[in-house]
Amino acid sequence: RKYLRHALIIGVTGIVGNSLAEILPLDDTPGGPWKVYGVARRPRPPWNADYPMEYIQCDITNAEETQSKLSTLTDLTNIFYVTWANCSTEEENCEINGQMLRNVLNAVIPNAPNLQHICLQTGRKHYIGPFEQWGDTNNVSHDPPFYEDLPRLENHNFYYTLEDIIFNEVVKREGLTWSVHRPGLIFGFSPYSMMNILSSLCVYAAICKYEGEPLRFPGTKEVWNSYNDASDADLIAEHQIWAAVDEYAKNEAFNISNGDVFKWKHLWKVLAEQFGVENGGFQEGENSISMLEMMKDKGPVWDEIVMKNELLATKLDQVGGWWFVDVVVNNDTRLDIMNKSKEHGFLGFRNSKSSLVSWIDKIKSCKLVP
Ligand code: NDP
Repeated sequence: RKYLRHALIIGVTGIVGNSLAEILPLDDTPGGPWKVYGVARRPRPPWNADYPMEYIQCDITNAEETQSKLSTLTDLTNIFYVTWANCSTEEENCEINGQMLRNVLNAVIPNAPNLQHICLQTGRKHYIGPFEQWGDTNNVSHDPPFYEDLPRLENHNFYYTLEDIIFNEVVKREGLTWSVHRPGLIFGFSPYSMMNILSSLCVYAAICKYEGEPLRFPGTKEVWNSYNDASDADLIAEHQIWAAVDEYAKNEAFNISNGDVFKWKHLWKVLAEQFGVENGGFQEGENSISMLEMMKDKGPVWDEIVMKNELLATKLDQVGGWWFVDVVVNNDTRLDIMNKSKEHGFLGFRNSKSSLVSWIDKIKSCKLVP
């Protein structure tokens, strides 16, 4: 087959990497036909074995390994950078994440003469600051709704490091362009994601069902009642593909969210229905319950659920990102706006409730939860 574009997805088994790997090879994907190479550290998992792509096992923190495995991809036209490392401090995040991106660019740019565009995924913490500074009174976040041209915050932020590396590299090669994509909370599929809110909530719901307990909202009353939004992983992939192909999207940063709002108190009912479990909701008079605490002894229960339902073999700490659920349900969402993408020609959107239901279906159909 003759391809028009050759894509390298760094983080191909992650929450957006998985959507890119599924969408890029389709016949009607803009800019195609696309040939796809995908990188991650672990062996290729069964749930993406059907995607037509070349899977490359490579640890991009290792400069030599990255050089030897990626410098041979001389036909590349596009990079989709959808990965990160979660370090203990933001300074370390800047150093390690910066090195990872540099390793990839050092291997690819000198060897791929047709490289045209790099999509970099960061996120809304661009406007809020890193997790470690949430709640810190010295961390002055911007006033939402966030738009792309707001100035950077003072603090260290690995998103700024990644952007600067891209800006510096791209100017060295004529014709090479970039785009930055800033999602909020992502709804999608990946058992290998470091932050997958829906997988974690599905596992929690399955455990409640198994133990005959109601599904209680583990967060604060404010978050239960307030407006939230999400970014569907397929929509983010479409947004990146649009930017990779469309002339009007070059060398710009864009927010990417579904375009609607929801309240957890409404989506919680839907989640409970999907698992046939009683909706325990938010209990008046109770403080939020830490998911990390609540789940710390549930490993054996999860093992039983996996065995009895013949699920994909997983351990609880692999499928539940409890620290991340605690972050999401205890911090007010600060909304962004999608005007810039629309003004540049991207009109995609998702209905967040339908997005939630369809990803739960996918999580169930891949036998991650009953
Ligand atoms: P995920 O955690 O979902 O996926 C990471 C992917 O990268 C996996 O395929 C992982 O596979 C791979 N990977 C991790 N480390 C390496 C490495 N050293 N070498 C090669 N591959 C590696 O990523 P996200 O999409 O969540 O994150 C991308 C960006 O999006 C981040 O900056 C994040 O902050 C941001 N973001 C994420 C949100 C979310 O809800 N998830 C919300 C908003 C922004 P393996 O482990 O096998 O290597």
